[in-house]
Amino acid sequence: MRRLDNFDLHNHSTASDGLLTPTQLLELGARNGAQAMALTDHDTVDGLEEAGEAARRLGVLFVGGVEISVSWGETTVHVVGLGIDPGSAVLDDGLRSVRDGRLGRARLMAQALEKLGMPGTLEAALALAGREDRLSRTHFARHLAETGAVRDAQQAFDKYLGKGKPAFVQHQWAGLEEAMGWILGSGGIAVLAHPGRYGLKPLGRATLLEEFKRLGGEAIEVVTGSHRPEEYATWRRVAEEYGFLASRGADFHGLGESPVEPGRLPPLPASLVPVWTRWAH
Ligand code: AMP
Ligand code: MN
Ligand code: MN
Ligand code: MN
Repeated sequence: MRRLDNFDLHNHSTASDGLLTPTQLLELGARNGAQAMALTDHDTVDGLEEAGEAARRLGVLFVGGVEISVSWGETTVHVVGLGIDPGSAVLDDGLRSVRDGRLGRARLMAQALEKLGMPGTLEAALALAGREDRLSRTHFARHLAETGAVRDAQQAFDKYLGKGKPAFVQHQWAGLEEAMGWILGSGGIAVLAHPGRYGLKPLGRATLLEEFKRLGGEAIEVVTGSHRPEEYATWRRVAEEYGFLASRGADFHGLGESPVEPGRLPPLPASLVPVWTRWAH
């Protein structure tokens, strides 16, 4: 039997800031040869039911997931929960509290953009997001690209929305310990998402990894569309050093927006133990 190795455990849909519906996302991953896929929308499990149905129809193993926004000091980090129970009350309450902060922050971003000469962005971003508690910087970035204020969504982050840029709004997300409690309390495995994206210096990085591990974190993403391929070796060594399981996921948001399609990443380095050994062989 062919070993299951095309697991893609980090992807977004229209339930958060992705461009494809859960069904379209699963169809794309299946076309690309993914054998197992997780949907990990930001701070919501809304898309899991639809994604699970599509996966069953397509013969893809489905892993229910979520990507939780966490404030760790001044740094925003993302923790993915895999294999969570979407019906868990502790998880549901926690995620709702995080989503409830999104509208207020979006208002402040829109005010900053208005001062920079770009009015009406709250309404436009909301039209793209479909729901107030889903509003993300991605929706603002897409709107700015549509109006021609920037060349593409990436440039909107580089010029206005990224950390330290003029429309960036510091925000209080979930605490790390809180988010870990929601994931573990709903039967999930906690995975530190794209650790290369946080711009941490060596000491901060070690502190985060140790704290994450102490709180029950089991895995880190090594091969992800949010790491450059030349970074994979760094995070392979970190996984080995700390004894973390390794995860693999495209962090796909949409065609033309994300560097890698679901199911199309290179395999995990052979020396690592994949996180999916926790529930599949
Ligand atoms: P939010 O949760 O509203 O702060 O939005 C975070 C999302 O914005 C991430 O999940 C990415 O999809 C996107 N994002 C964040 N930083 C960047 C960046 N520098 N370039 C492109 N997309 C980004
Ligand atoms: Mn996103
Ligand atoms: Mn993320
Ligand atoms: Mn993501």
